[in-house]
Amino acid sequence: MTHDIVIVGGGVGGTVTANRLRKKLQREVSGGNVRIRIVSDNPEHVYKPTFFYVPWGESEPEDARRPLADLVDRRVELIYDRVTHIDTSGKSLDLSENGSMPYDYLVVATGAMPDLDDTPGFGPDGDGHHFYDAEAAMALRQELSAFDEGHLVLSVIGTPHVCPAAPVEFTMLADSRFRKLGKRDDIDITYTYPLPRLHSVGPVAEWAEPRYAERDIQTQTMFNPETVDSGNSVIHTVEGTDLEYDLLVGIPEFEPSPLIAKSGLGDTWMEVDKHTLESDHAEDVFGIGDVTNLPTSKAGSVAHYAAGTVVDRIAALVRGHEPRTIFEGDTICFLEAGADEGSHISFDYETDPVVRDQSEFVHWAKFAYNEMYWLTARGLA
Ligand SMILES: Cc1cc2nc3c(=O)[nH]c(=O)nc-3n(C[C@H](O)[C@H](O)[C@H](O)COP(=O)(O)OP(=O)(O)OC[C@H]3O[C@@H](n4cnc5c(N)ncnc54)[C@H](O)[C@@H]3O)c2cc1C
Repeated sequence: MTHDIVIVGGGVGGTVTANRLRKKLQREVSGGNVRIRIVSDNPEHVYKPTFFYVPWGESEPEDARRPLADLVDRRVELIYDRVTHIDTSGKSLDLSENGSMPYDYLVVATGAMPDLDDTPGFGPDGDGHHFYDAEAAMALRQELSAFDEGHLVLSVIGTPHVCPAAPVEFTMLADSRFRKLGKRDDIDITYTYPLPRLHSVGPVAEWAEPRYAERDIQTQTMFNPETVDSGNSVIHTVEGTDLEYDLLVGIPEFEPSPLIAKSGLGDTWMEVDKHTLESDHAEDVFGIGDVTNLPTSKAGSVAHYAAGTVVDRIAALVRGHEPRTIFEGDTICFLEAGADEGSHISFDYETDPVVRDQSEFVHWAKFAYNEMYWLTARGLA
């Protein structure tokens, strides 16, 4: 009997899972007892953390992309198509172009997307920039390079968003890049956050506060943008305050694909057991990465570590064993501190977040990791 393992999504979680499963189940794959397939709506693998450096001219959009076929073991079948529905009782997927596809075990790794329509006036039809895709990051690059004076506002419009550290990192980088260019005296920087402190992760808020003060970065907390008046360059908040800007960079709230709710896998986010990563609503269905409701950050490291758990559990099931490996919530995020220094934060379900000492070494380690990432995706590191 052939076990059909299907992975939806060719991003961080899906690619690492496929390569590691192929290795772990080498005997079964070679013997024709296991077939591993990825269905992805994008023939390219996109490593999104690279986009963070595009606005500063320190990376190019092409650096973030590689053909999925170059990263995935040749014994994994690749199907480039969009999954439109998951029938969890009949154990099959509906594809946009290729009919339906059965599965025995399913891994959902479809990620999350920014909701750009949630705040009137912000987004493609209004004002406000972001760096969550190649085009937006390039548009922001153009604005930043021409920005010599005025008020830069980085506003966290909603949570959750991917890479929780990114807004703090962006303001630190902005301060340091403008200083290097000799523009900082003519540019004011304000960071806004929707909660009563600077970040939802307490230690990150505590880390940022003195550094912002030292670098003259203004802050506003309990600041929830309701509309952006692009004609007058003003943000109006739910709290009734206004903030004028000359250049607005927004961090929108993220959402999963409607596929999840449509397929009964969760009201919005895919609902999974936080340790086994199995769906709360369907048998033999696992979720990893940004699409899930896991009580931790939406970060590449989480997708990567979770992939290890799912691989072990599916391999055990295929071999008729009791799955034992569980996910402990391992999370690690780099924190750019500006001035060519960096730090990182790590935690899991049981251990509180700790922000480590910042150093030049960690700043360069982040760059090195982004290069090494392509080995990680191949399941080699
Ligand atoms: C600017 C930026 C900076 C970041 N920086 C960091 C960082 O420094 N550190 C860190 O750990 N994380 C960072 N992240 C977050 C990290 O990129 C994500 O957490 C990670 O990519 C999540 O992996 P994933 O597999 O869940 O989703 P993704 O990598 O987004 O992959 C989702 C895949 O699913 C496919 N897909 C979606 N819907 C369908 C469908 N219906 N049918 C078929 N295929 C589908 C997509 O095409 C894609 O291939 C950053 C993200 C951004 C945007």
